[in-house]
Amino acid sequence: MNSQDLEQWDKEYVWHPFTQMKTYRESKPLIIERGEGSYLIDVDGKRYLDGYASLWVNVHGHNEPELNGALIEQVNKVAHSTLLGSANVPSILLAKKLAEITPGPLSKVFYSDTGSAAVEIALKVAYQYWQNIDPVKHRNKNKFVSLDEAYHGDTVGAVSVGGMDLFHRIFKPLLFQRISAPSPYAYHMTEYGDPEAVKNHCLKELEKLLQKQSEEIAGLIIEPLVQGAAGIITHPLGFLKEVGQLCKKYNILLICDEVAVGFGRTGTMFACEQEDVVPDIMCMGKGITGGYMPLAATIMNEQIFQSFLGEREEHKTFYHGHTYTGNQLACALALKNIELMESRNLIKDIQKKSKYLSQRLQALYELPIVGDIRQRGFMIGVEIVKDRQTKETFTLQENVVSGIIHTARENGLIIRELGPVITMMPILSMSEKDLDFMVETVYHAIQEVSIHKGLIPAAN
Ligand SMILES: *Cc1c(COP(=O)(O)O)cnc(C)c1O
Repeated sequence: MNSQDLEQWDKEYVWHPFTQMKTYRESKPLIIERGEGSYLIDVDGKRYLDGYASLWVNVHGHNEPELNGALIEQVNKVAHSTLLGSANVPSILLAKKLAEITPGPLSKVFYSDTGSAAVEIALKVAYQYWQNIDPVKHRNKNKFVSLDEAYHGDTVGAVSVGGMDLFHRIFKPLLFQRISAPSPYAYHMTEYGDPEAVKNHCLKELEKLLQKQSEEIAGLIIEPLVQGAAGIITHPLGFLKEVGQLCKKYNILLICDEVAVGFGRTGTMFACEQEDVVPDIMCMGKGITGGYMPLAATIMNEQIFQSFLGEREEHKTFYHGHTYTGNQLACALALKNIELMESRNLIKDIQKKSKYLSQRLQALYELPIVGDIRQRGFMIGVEIVKDRQTKETFTLQENVVSGIIHTARENGLIIRELGPVITMMPILSMSEKDLDFMVETVYHAIQEVSIHKGLIPAAN
C-alpha cells in the first residue's frame, strides 16, 4: 500500500464533507498518517502544523500519551454498552464533572455523538418542555429564534435554525420555520456606527420580534461570543448578556450552542461565562474529548428536567436516543481531557497566549488585502477583501483565498477558509513558537498570493 494507491482509492471511494469532489479529484489530496503534538504527518512523511485543530477539536495535541493511556485503559475494560436501560462508569463520572464545570444550575446531561445531534436534542427538549408544562397554553410555542449567519450543524433540525444561506438554501423546503434575528457583524454594518451601535441595533430588532411573537417562540439558540462557521463573527461585548436578559423578559428558553466555543476555545472553559450568562440548555461537542473521539452532550437545568418527570402513561418521557449514547471510550477520553485541562492550567495558558497572538496578528494589516482581523482566544478570522473601502471580496474564480490556503499548506501549515475569511484555530496547547510559525506562514502566504495576482509589487 503506497501513497499513490491511497490517493487513487481516496478519489475513487471517499466522498469528502463540504467538498466539491470534482475540484478535489483534480488536486493532490493530503493523506494524514500520523500525529505528533501540534503536527500532522502525511503518508509521504511531510510535517504540517495543525492550525485548524483538526476541525476545531484538538486540545492537548495529537498522540497525547495521557489521552492514549485513558483510551487503552478503558478499552481493556469495555468499549461500549448501552445507556438504554443500563448505566456505565465513565458516563456517570463525566456527567457529574460536566455539571460541576458548567455554570449555574446546569446539571442534567443528555449524551449524543455529534454537535448537530446535541443541537437537535436541545431543540426537541425545549419544545417538549413547554408542552409538558401546559400543552394548551403553550400550543403555539413551536418556533425558534436564531441569528443570521448562524451555524448549528447539518442535520435537518440543526439546519432549520441555521442562517447560512450558502449551505442551507437548497434544503429550504425540508426545514421547519425559523425566526431570524440580525447578527451583529460589526465589520459589515458600519452604517449603524461602531460595534456598540451595531449591538444596540441588533438588540432592538430582536426585542421587537420577541415582543410580537414570544407566544409562539419556544427558545432562542445562539453561538455565544463568536459565530464560528459564519467566518469568526465576533460579537460586540455585552451582546450575549443582553440577549440572555431578553430571553428571560419574554419567557423563552436560551440555548447556548457551545459546540465550537466551549472547552477553552475563547479563553474560558465556556464562552457564556465571560458575560455571566447561564443558559437554560447548553450544547457541547468538538473539543469535549480533546479531539479524540466523537462525543457531544446537551446539558439542561433542573427545572427543564423536572418537567419531563411523570408516570409512564403520561408520556412526558423524552423519546430520543442514539445507539452510541454515552459510549465508554469517548466518555473516558472526555474525563481525561478535562482533568488534563485542569492539571495543566490550560485556560490560564490560553488567555496568556491569546494576548501574545493578537499582537502578532496585527502585522497582517500590513498586507492591503487584509480587511479585518477578528479574534477571541484561539479563534481567529482574517477577512480578505479586494478593497478596504468597499469591503468587496474576491470571487471564487479568482482563487485568492483558496490560493492562500494552498500556499500555506505547501509551506507546512494546515488552515482553512470560510468564504472570504482565512481561519486559524490552533490546537489549544500549541506553543508560542508554533503560533509564531502559524502567523508568519499566513503572512507569507497572503503576501505571495498578492504578488502573484499583481495586487502588490514583487519588491514589497
Ligand atoms: C461544528 C458545529 C456544530 C455541529 O457539530 P458536528 O459535530 O459537526 O455535528 C454545531 N454548532 C456549532 C456552533 C458548530 O461549530
